[in-house]
Amino acid sequence: MSEHSLKGSSRSSIDFLGNKWEYNCMGCAITNKEINIPGGIIFEGKYTILGADPEIPIPGFMIVNSKRHIKSVSELNKEERYEIIDIISLAEKALRELRIVEEVTLVQEERSKHLHIWIFPNYKWMTEKFGKGIEFLRDISEYAKNNVKENDIKEIIEVIDKIREYFKEHSI
Ligand SMILES: [Zn+2]
Repeated sequence: MSEHSLKGSSRSSIDFLGNKWEYNCMGCAITNKEINIPGGIIFEGKYTILGADPEIPIPGFMIVNSKRHIKSVSELNKEERYEIIDIISLAEKALRELRIVEEVTLVQEERSKHLHIWIFPNYKWMTEKFGKGIEFLRDISEYAKNNVKENDIKEIIEVIDKIREYFKEHSI
């Protein structure tokens, strides 16, 4: 019997700082603060949490996590929709104004059981190494995971801190 089946529906993952987390649903674990997102929460709204992607070490790569366990944008109420778009908008502005990247890709997959949106920064090295477009995001993510250096982690944490400060200075 695999470790997975022994634990029922629980899953585990190791974040890019090397911490191992177990949870039934990563989105709910983030909402309930059972997972400490690497670098800490960037912004917590009434309905939404913004933080770095826990597993993929790329500076400025963020996830917008719905606090409610729903899987589709169509299940969001009006207030939640407003907040999520406001947060995405400010996160994109932060990335540009802090000169981290000029362009992002947003991804939301309904096959994931808990609504979250990727704010994926598009760096020049990604285009040069893999090409441009949504079809390369998995390869880029794998590459980032397999080639992360200590300096990269330092940079990621610095970028998280800068974006957190940006959110404090600009109201959504
Ligand atoms: Zn959930």
